[in-house]
Amino acid sequence: MPANDYTLTRRRMKNIRMTVRAGTGEVRVSAPLRTPRRVIDAWVESKAEWIELQRSKALAAPAPLAPGPEADALRRELRPVLAELVAAWVPRMGVPEPTWRVRIMRSRWGSCNKDARSLNFSLELARKDRHLVEYVVVHELAHLIESNHGPGFYAVMDAHLPDWKSRRAELNGR
Ligand SMILES: [Zn+2]
Repeated sequence: MPANDYTLTRRRMKNIRMTVRAGTGEVRVSAPLRTPRRVIDAWVESKAEWIELQRSKALAAPAPLAPGPEADALRRELRPVLAELVAAWVPRMGVPEPTWRVRIMRSRWGSCNKDARSLNFSLELARKDRHLVEYVVVHELAHLIESNHGPGFYAVMDAHLPDWKSRRAELNGR
Protein backbone atom coordinates (compact mmCIF):
# COMPACT_ATOMS: atom_id res chain seq x y z
CA MET A 1 0.00 0.00 0.00
CA PRO A 2 1.38 3.46 -0.83
CA ALA A 3 2.31 5.37 2.31
CA ASN A 4 -0.23 8.14 1.72
CA ASP A 5 -3.18 5.90 0.93
CA TYR A 6 -5.03 6.48 4.18
CA THR A 7 -7.38 8.94 5.84
CA LEU A 8 -5.68 10.94 8.57
CA THR A 9 -7.44 12.50 11.55
CA ARG A 10 -5.59 14.62 14.10
CA ARG A 11 -6.63 14.19 17.71
CA ARG A 12 -5.50 15.00 21.19
CA MET A 13 -3.93 11.61 21.84
CA LYS A 14 -0.59 10.08 22.74
CA ASN A 15 -0.11 7.34 20.17
CA ILE A 16 -0.89 6.79 16.52
CA ARG A 17 -3.85 4.47 15.97
CA MET A 18 -5.14 2.77 12.88
CA THR A 19 -8.33 0.97 11.88
CA VAL A 20 -9.37 -0.79 8.69
CA ARG A 21 -13.02 -0.40 7.79
CA ALA A 22 -15.19 -3.49 7.23
CA GLY A 23 -16.62 -3.80 3.73
CA THR A 24 -14.44 -1.13 2.12
CA GLY A 25 -10.96 -1.86 3.48
CA GLU A 26 -10.44 1.87 3.97
CA VAL A 27 -7.49 2.61 6.25
CA ARG A 28 -8.07 5.31 8.84
CA VAL A 29 -5.25 6.68 10.94
CA SER A 30 -5.58 8.95 13.95
CA ALA A 31 -2.46 10.70 15.13
CA PRO A 32 -1.46 13.18 17.83
CA LEU A 33 -1.75 16.84 16.84
CA ARG A 34 1.99 17.46 16.50
CA THR A 35 3.34 14.24 15.02
CA PRO A 36 5.02 15.13 11.67
CA ARG A 37 3.45 13.60 8.58
CA ARG A 38 6.67 11.78 7.63
CA VAL A 39 6.69 10.04 11.02
CA ILE A 40 3.09 8.94 10.47
CA ASP A 41 3.89 7.77 6.92
CA ALA A 42 6.84 5.74 8.22
CA TRP A 43 4.72 4.26 10.98
CA VAL A 44 2.00 3.26 8.50
CA GLU A 45 4.61 1.74 6.17
CA SER A 46 6.05 -0.30 9.01
CA LYS A 47 2.58 -1.83 9.46
CA ALA A 48 2.19 -2.78 5.78
CA GLU A 49 1.86 -6.51 6.43
CA TRP A 50 -0.71 -6.01 9.18
CA ILE A 51 -2.68 -3.65 6.93
CA GLU A 52 -2.77 -6.15 4.06
CA LEU A 53 -4.03 -8.86 6.39
CA GLN A 54 -6.70 -6.59 7.91
CA ARG A 55 -7.77 -5.37 4.47
CA SER A 56 -8.31 -8.86 3.12
CA LYS A 57 -10.41 -9.64 6.21
CA ALA A 58 -12.28 -6.32 5.95
CA LEU A 59 -13.12 -6.82 2.29
CA ALA A 60 -14.44 -10.31 3.01
CA ALA A 61 -16.73 -8.93 5.74
CA PRO A 62 -20.06 -7.35 4.83
CA ALA A 63 -20.23 -3.54 4.80
CA PRO A 64 -21.79 -1.92 7.88
CA LEU A 65 -25.56 -1.58 7.58
CA ALA A 66 -27.15 1.71 6.62
CA PRO A 67 -30.86 2.64 6.73
CA GLY A 68 -32.70 1.22 3.72
CA PRO A 69 -34.56 -1.85 2.44
CA GLU A 70 -31.83 -4.31 3.48
CA ALA A 71 -31.80 -2.91 7.02
CA ASP A 72 -35.62 -3.06 7.16
CA ALA A 73 -35.64 -6.70 6.04
CA LEU A 74 -33.00 -7.66 8.60
CA ARG A 75 -34.91 -5.83 11.31
CA ARG A 76 -38.03 -7.86 10.51
CA GLU A 77 -35.99 -11.05 10.88
CA LEU A 78 -34.27 -10.01 14.09
CA ARG A 79 -37.19 -8.60 16.09
CA PRO A 80 -39.05 -11.91 16.70
CA VAL A 81 -35.77 -13.61 17.68
CA LEU A 82 -35.05 -10.89 20.24
CA ALA A 83 -38.65 -10.87 21.49
CA GLU A 84 -38.50 -14.59 22.14
CA LEU A 85 -35.09 -14.46 23.84
CA VAL A 86 -36.02 -11.50 26.05
CA ALA A 87 -39.31 -13.19 27.04
CA ALA A 88 -37.44 -16.39 27.94
CA TRP A 89 -34.59 -14.78 29.87
CA VAL A 90 -36.42 -12.11 31.88
CA PRO A 91 -38.12 -14.62 34.22
CA ARG A 92 -35.06 -16.90 34.25
CA MET A 93 -32.82 -14.05 35.45
CA GLY A 94 -35.48 -12.46 37.64
CA VAL A 95 -34.99 -9.03 36.09
CA PRO A 96 -37.73 -6.44 35.52
CA GLU A 97 -39.36 -6.44 32.07
CA PRO A 98 -37.37 -3.97 29.94
CA THR A 99 -38.36 -2.06 26.83
CA TRP A 100 -36.01 -2.65 23.90
CA ARG A 101 -35.25 -1.38 20.44
CA VAL A 102 -33.20 -2.46 17.45
CA ARG A 103 -30.83 0.21 16.18
CA ILE A 104 -28.01 0.63 13.73
CA MET A 105 -25.03 0.71 16.07
CA ARG A 106 -21.50 0.99 14.80
CA SER A 107 -19.27 -0.30 17.55
CA ARG A 108 -21.39 -2.22 20.02
CA TRP A 109 -23.76 -5.19 19.97
CA GLY A 110 -26.09 -3.72 22.54
CA SER A 111 -26.49 -1.26 25.36
CA CYS A 112 -28.54 -0.94 28.52
CA ASN A 113 -29.95 1.96 30.47
CA LYS A 114 -30.57 0.39 33.88
CA ASP A 115 -32.60 3.26 35.37
CA ALA A 116 -34.86 3.56 32.32
CA ARG A 117 -34.99 -0.27 32.00
CA SER A 118 -34.37 0.09 28.31
CA LEU A 119 -32.11 -1.93 26.05
CA ASN A 120 -30.77 -1.32 22.56
CA PHE A 121 -29.70 -4.11 20.25
CA SER A 122 -27.54 -3.68 17.18
CA LEU A 123 -29.17 -4.52 13.87
CA GLU A 124 -25.89 -6.27 12.95
CA LEU A 125 -27.07 -9.11 15.21
CA ALA A 126 -29.44 -10.09 12.38
CA ARG A 127 -26.36 -11.53 10.67
CA LYS A 128 -25.33 -13.60 13.67
CA ASP A 129 -26.30 -17.06 14.85
CA ARG A 130 -28.98 -17.36 17.49
CA HIS A 131 -26.64 -18.48 20.29
CA LEU A 132 -24.62 -15.28 19.77
CA VAL A 133 -27.75 -13.11 19.84
CA GLU A 134 -28.66 -14.95 23.03
CA TYR A 135 -25.31 -14.02 24.58
CA VAL A 136 -25.97 -10.32 23.85
CA VAL A 137 -29.51 -10.54 25.29
CA VAL A 138 -28.24 -12.14 28.52
CA HIS A 139 -25.39 -9.60 28.69
CA GLU A 140 -27.71 -6.61 28.39
CA LEU A 141 -30.28 -8.10 30.79
CA ALA A 142 -27.45 -8.67 33.29
CA HIS A 143 -26.88 -4.92 33.19
CA LEU A 144 -30.36 -4.52 34.72
CA ILE A 145 -28.77 -6.16 37.79
CA GLU A 146 -25.23 -4.73 37.59
CA SER A 147 -24.65 -1.64 35.48
CA ASN A 148 -20.85 -1.94 35.26
CA HIS A 149 -18.56 -4.71 34.06
CA GLY A 150 -17.38 -5.49 37.58
CA PRO A 151 -17.03 -8.86 39.37
CA GLY A 152 -20.75 -8.81 40.25
CA PHE A 153 -21.65 -8.51 36.57
CA TYR A 154 -19.44 -11.44 35.56
CA ALA A 155 -20.87 -13.52 38.42
CA VAL A 156 -24.35 -12.97 36.95
CA MET A 157 -23.08 -14.01 33.50
CA ASP A 158 -21.35 -17.13 34.91
CA ALA A 159 -24.49 -18.14 36.78
CA HIS A 160 -26.83 -17.85 33.80
CA LEU A 161 -24.69 -18.51 30.74
CA PRO A 162 -21.58 -20.49 31.80
CA ASP A 163 -20.14 -20.55 28.25
CA TRP A 164 -20.57 -16.79 27.70
CA LYS A 165 -16.83 -16.22 27.16
CA SER A 166 -16.63 -18.52 24.16
CA ARG A 167 -19.80 -16.98 22.72
CA ARG A 168 -18.32 -13.49 23.15
CA ALA A 169 -15.10 -14.59 21.44
CA GLU A 170 -17.06 -16.07 18.53
CA LEU A 171 -19.22 -12.95 18.23
CA ASN A 172 -16.15 -10.75 18.04
CA GLY A 173 -14.47 -13.02 15.50
CA ARG A 174 -11.71 -14.25 17.77
ZN1 LIG B 1 -21.88 -4.58 28.92
